[in-house]
Amino acid sequence: MSSACPSLAIVIHTEEEFAWNGGFYRSNNQVTHGKELTALCERFIAMDAPVTFALDYAFVDSEEGKKVIEHFNANHQGKVEFATHLHPWVSPPFDEDESEKEEVSNFESYPGNLSKELEYQKLSALTDKITHVSGQKPTTYLAGRYGIGKNTHETLLGLGYRLDVSISPFTNFSHQQGPDFSHCNNDVSTTDGLCYIPHTTAVLSRIPLVANLFNNNPHWFEKGLQSPLTRLLMKVARVKKQRLSPEGFALNDMKRVIRNQLKLGQQSFVFSFHSPSVKVGLTPYTQTAEALSQFEHDTLALLSWFKEECQGKIILAKDIRV
Ligand SMILES: [Zn+2]
Repeated sequence: MSSACPSLAIVIHTEEEFAWNGGFYRSNNQVTHGKELTALCERFIAMDAPVTFALDYAFVDSEEGKKVIEHFNANHQGKVEFATHLHPWVSPPFDEDESEKEEVSNFESYPGNLSKELEYQKLSALTDKITHVSGQKPTTYLAGRYGIGKNTHETLLGLGYRLDVSISPFTNFSHQQGPDFSHCNNDVSTTDGLCYIPHTTAVLSRIPLVANLFNNNPHWFEKGLQSPLTRLLMKVARVKKQRLSPEGFALNDMKRVIRNQLKLGQQSFVFSFHSPSVKVGLTPYTQTAEALSQFEHDTLALLSWFKEECQGKIILAKDIRV
């Protein structure tokens, strides 16, 4: 393990309560989890863990969303960051002919697939909205559905962004018309002053050498899954991909991700979840009161463990130094 102090940013995909797997509709813009989100983030801040809210238009435009922003602005200036999260299907400008009930295609649900002009217009309108409501101009971007595209870099530079956290390592969304990150590991990079820090994701194996191989050759993971023989070998070596998130991953899984990545020399971590997961029944991860209390327990326990056992610091996304 390196002697430098590792850092972790809590990035919350702060958004409306859309039906997962239920299509993308402009009319799906309800936000009823503001109180629960405030309560959980108060617990983070009480343990000196600042929070980055990546806000989408429906959230910022909702009454409950505005209350969350006002609350943290009034009580915890400097302990929160307001970043930008673009869900194109609820973010203006809209095509005048489009009905509110009309489903946005899978292709157009990834903002990076929009025309350069439309991606810019939506991102610019959302940036202005967040600046107006929060009083802070956002400089960190998280694309909805991790959907950065060929024009996004230039658009972000034009709007004054400094950091992008949309990369989802070892993952290929192209089968659903999304971006292909299968060639990416967790490496941080900077181009034209815009820094890219991936959402922390590890390929683990019970054989450390195998985990190292995948880290050095990220595209092997996707390739390996395609052939029955390599899939079998990967099963034998217990190769699996895990994200640094309490959504679908238990406390020990998340600790394994961090331990594995620290060994590989990673120093900057992005821990994430979706804001509706903080209330029972809104996402697949917290369908019962028990599941929600496990989610909260695992999250808080991981953050304490990172600070105490890994001598880590929890910081805002914009403060990650690379
Ligand atoms: Zn989202």
